[in-house]
Amino acid sequence: MTRTWTLPMTGSCRCDRVRFEVSVDPILTSACHCTGCQKMSSSAYSLTVMVPTDGFAVVQGDVVQGGLHGEDARHMFCDHCKTWMFTRIDAFGLVNVRATLLDDPSWFEPFIETYTCEKLAWATTPAQISFEKFPPPESYGALMDAFRTAHQGGHE
Ligand SMILES: [Zn+2]
Ligand SMILES: [Zn+2]
Repeated sequence: MTRTWTLPMTGSCRCDRVRFEVSVDPILTSACHCTGCQKMSSSAYSLTVMVPTDGFAVVQGDVVQGGLHGEDARHMFCDHCKTWMFTRIDAFGLVNVRATLLDDPSWFEPFIETYTCEKLAWATTPAQISFEKFPPPESYGALMDAFRTAHQGGHE
């Protein structure tokens, strides 16, 4: 059985000055192998919990926006320790929260993985669906349905 979360979920940056709360169910989880994520995470891939903007709040401390961002994606960091905390995708009303910042990430597993065309040769994840780049926009609805189904039944 797939492990699942309990709401609200809480999390923090490395220094714990910034804390956040997730109050609604995530709609998808992912790992991204793109070279941008490799650099920003200083690791093989980034890990994301996708949450509707309404269900996400910084409840303590200050975040700053990184200097590198597109029109749609705003990368946010702890003002003190500079942990890469989350990315606001305003056009879609989403926040991509970095999964390992959760106080309890034990339930987390990437449901999809993206940009495998740029992955390190040895890098693998338990993701159920792999995409060479990003999923086509029209496939997100079906992916979210599949994610919801996979996580049904475990809720309190
Ligand atoms: Zn910090
Ligand atoms: Zn990426």
